[in-house]
Amino acid sequence: MVETVPEAVSGRVRILLLGGTAEARRLSTELAAYPGIDLIVSLKGLTQQPRAYAGQVRIGGFGGVGGLCAYLCTHEIAACIDATHPFAAQMAHNALEACARAACPQIRLVRPEWQPGAGDRWIRVPTIADAADAVPTDSVVFVALGAIGSQLFAERTAARMIVRTVDPVQPEHRIPRTTYLTGLPDGSVAAEADLMRQYGVTHVAVRNSGGSAGRGKLEAARNLGVPVVMVERPPIGPGRVVSDIAAIRDWLYPIVAADS
Ligand code: NAP
Repeated sequence: MVETVPEAVSGRVRILLLGGTAEARRLSTELAAYPGIDLIVSLKGLTQQPRAYAGQVRIGGFGGVGGLCAYLCTHEIAACIDATHPFAAQMAHNALEACARAACPQIRLVRPEWQPGAGDRWIRVPTIADAADAVPTDSVVFVALGAIGSQLFAERTAARMIVRTVDPVQPEHRIPRTTYLTGLPDGSVAAEADLMRQYGVTHVAVRNSGGSAGRGKLEAARNLGVPVVMVERPPIGPGRVVSDIAAIRDWLYPIVAADS
């Protein structure tokens, strides 16, 4: 499919924001309102009804490094902010590589990792396969590893699973031994603890995504004494990587001032 090139807004600098995270949404609101910025937000399109972003939203992959490089050039992107999820390693690699080829300034925003606190029972593992190997076969695991991650996990264990998804999972994609819960969680510690009690959860399996949205289940697990199998992040970088929106401002606004 050929993507329509949006009309350039004269006197403005076009910025590409790779989204899919709460930080990207917040950033989109700020950047779309910033004088001199013409913002394009890019989403992979994983969910049927993505949350609202400010700026012009495009949806779908670019077609690898070459596709993104072409997009940057065709759309005269002045800077690219990769605010995708810490586990979106392929997109991060592609953004770095394509921006280097297109000589487009690029930066990655990665939220800080969660750290264990007193009372946490974390089992830290490098991969999802290791996470599956870490749970006893008679356990009930609250699996928060994304659609593909849940599938990989299920292939390696006979444990029962509780999986929560934003959109309903079609019958042909359902994993055996799994109870599906649909919809966004309220995220509170009390609600997560209720859920764990209700389903007799013995373990939580989660990626170290960081951020506030997933914290509730970690605190609930701590309060209930439930072990958390924590999948560590893939390597972050190389390239310029920052952990907060203030650092993005410091980097971006001089570029906007110089280009407008
Ligand atoms: P990934 O494995 O790194 O990316 C796979 C491919 O999806 C990329 O090569 C790219 O396709 C396309 N893609 C990813 N993010 C895109 C974006 N923002 N705009 C356009 N195309 C994108 O990433 P993923 O793990 O599938 O995650 C996909 C999206 O979901 C990311 O944007 C991420 O922020 C969000 N998300 C991911 C997770 C997670 O756990 N991984 C959790 C929450 C949200 P092409 O090569 O064709 O360009």
